[in-house]
Amino acid sequence: MDNKELWQSVLAQMQFHVSKANFATWFQNTEIISIEDKKVTISVPNAFSKEWLSNKYNKLILKAIHDIDDKVKDLSFIINPYSSKKILNKILIQNEKEETEQLRFEEFKVNKETNLNPKYTFDNFVVGSFNELAHAASLAVSESPGFTYNPLFIYGGVGLGKTHLIQAIGNKINEDSKKKKIKYISSEKFVSGIVAAIRSNSIESFKSNLSSIDVLIIDDIQFIAGKNKTQEEFFHAFNSLYEKNKQIILSSDRPPNAIPELEERLRSRFEGGMIADVSLPDYETRLVILKQKLQEKNIELPEEILDYVANNVKKNIRELEGALNRLLLYSKTNNILDLETVKKLLKGFIFSPFDVVNCKKIIDTVSKFYNLDDKNIFDVTRRKEVVKPRQVAMFLLRKELKFSFPAIARKFGGKDHTTAIYAYNKILQENEENNKLTEELNLIKQRIYSG
Ligand code: ADP
Ligand code: MG
Repeated sequence: MDNKELWQSVLAQMQFHVSKANFATWFQNTEIISIEDKKVTISVPNAFSKEWLSNKYNKLILKAIHDIDDKVKDLSFIINPYSSKKILNKILIQNEKEETEQLRFEEFKVNKETNLNPKYTFDNFVVGSFNELAHAASLAVSESPGFTYNPLFIYGGVGLGKTHLIQAIGNKINEDSKKKKIKYISSEKFVSGIVAAIRSNSIESFKSNLSSIDVLIIDDIQFIAGKNKTQEEFFHAFNSLYEKNKQIILSSDRPPNAIPELEERLRSRFEGGMIADVSLPDYETRLVILKQKLQEKNIELPEEILDYVANNVKKNIRELEGALNRLLLYSKTNNILDLETVKKLLKGFIFSPFDVVNCKKIIDTVSKFYNLDDKNIFDVTRRKEVVKPRQVAMFLLRKELKFSFPAIARKFGGKDHTTAIYAYNKILQENEENNKLTEELNLIKQRIYSG
């Protein structure tokens, strides 16, 4: 048996002891380069692999070799970043294939009845001060649906765990009682369902379907704003479920009172239960989330790298996951995982406020937040719907970007910078007196800074 064959059979053995993910991470591009004096020397592609293999897998590897060649008593590892690059390992390729297939399978294992994705659970949901209330309320609802908080309304920015949380409730209820009829539906699907039902004259059966549900979960409910027919139907569905103590769970990118063009009667229904927000996790929680995701995948990374990611990827949890996946994918195919490489790889995930926030960004975000079309914020008009967003935009240009008042005035068609001063002071003062405005400003800022 030559060195290559020996190593292949060791690898085949190691597979039984190591998870696929770990196997791929630590054994890729390794080979036996010599056997001398009872000592086997294994070449590894980097210091990182060396540390791992010699600390964690030394015994296992030695035993596997010893089982084949009992003269061998010792192992050593040397780093050889060049020669090993091209080693192709059948086992690895095979594993990788299986793994991606498995991954894909998991991704799409959405329950056909409930539309819930089983990957969203309370078990893998990390709790910190940023989402404590939302988590506690969700847990309470999952324990006695229909009887604690109804409706439960979770709101917050993109990628902060709303979908995860509201699906976790559904999955938990489903696990506890198979009899309960649970439906998770995105608000877009809900809208298109109603539109289709109206078109095909089947709104009655659509309604009776809805009324047989025990737990109705609608994600991103803000999208029904401005869609009058949908709001009307939803209002009736809401009432009929509510009266029967059926649980209603909603998520939104903002609180009910900040959703423009939401019918008053719906707003007051939404406010009639529990409203809880999810916000941004702090450094410690980001670190815990990273570790939790690695644990799920059964992979470990050095503290130094985790610390760097947690310190720098701050936008939201989805980005944090994205950054991590990027690193894992890269390390799997290239075997390089030093901090310098990590920094390069994560460039797109890391930003300073000054990179992304500019005048256009602020104006666009404010316009969008208040449902104004692109250019309308610049309209010369005293209409309230335009004046307020314009004042908010002026305020933020001053506050966030330190624009001068004349510069702000120029942006808005120019004549008189006293208008900009007036707007700034007005919003500043109202911000102190009016909680709703404060909340709106916070949400707008959250969006501006989250890319
Ligand atoms: P949202 O619906 O608010 O846009 P998601 O629920 O889709 O955000 O979350 C984005 C990603 O981050 C998902 O993969 C989700 O599993 C993960 N995630 C969010 N919050 C947490 C958390 N607290 N603990 C663990 N993973 C989380
Ligand atoms: Mg979501």
